[in-house]
Amino acid sequence: MHRTSQRTGQSLEPDRQTVEAMGREIVSRIADYLDGLPQAPASRFGEAADAVARMLQPPPEEGGGFDRLLDAFQEAAAHGLDPSSPGYLAYFPAGGLVSSALADAFAQVHNRFTTVADLAPALVAMEHGVLRWLAGLFGLPEGAGGLVTTGGSLATLAAVVAARHDRLGEDLAGARLYVTEHTHFCVAKAARIAGLPASAVRVVPTRRLRMDPVAAARMIEEDRARGLRPFLLAGTAGTTSTGTVDPLPELGELAAREGLWFHVDAAYGGGLRLTARGRARLAGVERADSIVVDPHKSLFLSYGTGVLLVRDPVTLRAAHAGGGDYLQDLRTVGGLPDFGHDGPELTREFRGLRLWLPLHLHGVAAFRAALDEKLDLAWLAYRELAADPLFEVPWEPDLTVVVFRPRDGDEAGRRLLDRVNATGRIFLSSTTVEGRYFLRLNPTGHRTHEAELRAALELIRDGARALAG
Ligand SMILES: *Cc1c(COP(=O)(O)O)cnc(C)c1O
Repeated sequence: MHRTSQRTGQSLEPDRQTVEAMGREIVSRIADYLDGLPQAPASRFGEAADAVARMLQPPPEEGGGFDRLLDAFQEAAAHGLDPSSPGYLAYFPAGGLVSSALADAFAQVHNRFTTVADLAPALVAMEHGVLRWLAGLFGLPEGAGGLVTTGGSLATLAAVVAARHDRLGEDLAGARLYVTEHTHFCVAKAARIAGLPASAVRVVPTRRLRMDPVAAARMIEEDRARGLRPFLLAGTAGTTSTGTVDPLPELGELAAREGLWFHVDAAYGGGLRLTARGRARLAGVERADSIVVDPHKSLFLSYGTGVLLVRDPVTLRAAHAGGGDYLQDLRTVGGLPDFGHDGPELTREFRGLRLWLPLHLHGVAAFRAALDEKLDLAWLAYRELAADPLFEVPWEPDLTVVVFRPRDGDEAGRRLLDRVNATGRIFLSSTTVEGRYFLRLNPTGHRTHEAELRAALELIRDGARALAG
């Protein structure tokens, strides 16, 4: 490996030769990393104290060599989990499309201010264009808009603040919102940050893991009768534990009847809307007032990209806009959003290119095909595990999550998880559903294909057999 100049750090503005050498070094390391992924461990847990101590050191007065610093990063990254691994089958994916990551670096060097449209109108249009395309994908009407955030949690916060402002105004007394035990905790967290007490969050009973619309209607009615103020109904299109989709048509209908803001958390499931099966599963999402979808989950982007879509962008603006004398030079550009007024952030990096470039480079069909493959993999895993008498697999996958457990019970499940993860070849997670321990398999990384999945199933079966003695 060639070494770049040891003195790259001296000037804050490296010369052209140095920039090119730094770029080559990073790109060649990226290519090596990607080449090595199929052989690399999915996780490496164990002694990390030395690495942790090194990374806690403050920066030196005199800078050091670029290569050495990249070495330090790669040594640090080697500890823990590698969600880019084809054997990573745990939490929602983060393979990290290399085209998106490179686009991000390219955009960051240009460092444009996209907080208000006036200062970079065509870049804001690039981001807004992706948002409008996504809004159309979910069947929201023309004029719908949204926000690219750092993730689903921040997108949910903006949605809850918009709903609160739109439906409750300044008076939060007696506010109630409706979730289930399977709703992601970011909804309750957003409510808390938005100033609502824990008692505002009502947990609606479920039937077969889905929100029961009849029970929801009853709760809303009872709460109204007690003088409370129901304002938001949160459905989930792809729960985190089991990937289950709530009955969106019934929930949308209920929300409309009761005048509640209908929020759909499609952080994980949203991307699957690109496929025919996902489209059918997510029917009813078009009634939502707000939808959260995480491109860093089901569009395979690196972490740090969430999306909020809103039926009426005025609701976002009304809840978030502010101003200051120091911003008096900024003009509003007709037809384009000023993102700094639509959410909690003011200064923000330009997030448009990391979405726009992969979509235009690979084409939408490439994403659809990859997501279809993930649905096929989930069904393959479901059929194989359900056919094996060692396992109990109670629910067909709605999307791509398969939960299963050894028939021997919770403790056997825990031992099986430890055993398969200790191989370092695959990584699964677990969850608790209806009080019972389940292993959770989610083949949604874009690098996981049938061969990797079959190998993973082999490891799981072998592990279970060995434990069963
Ligand atoms: C991951 C997830 C979230 C939270 O999104 P972040 O991007 O992690 O902040 C919200 N809802 C669901 C259903 C999720 O799976």
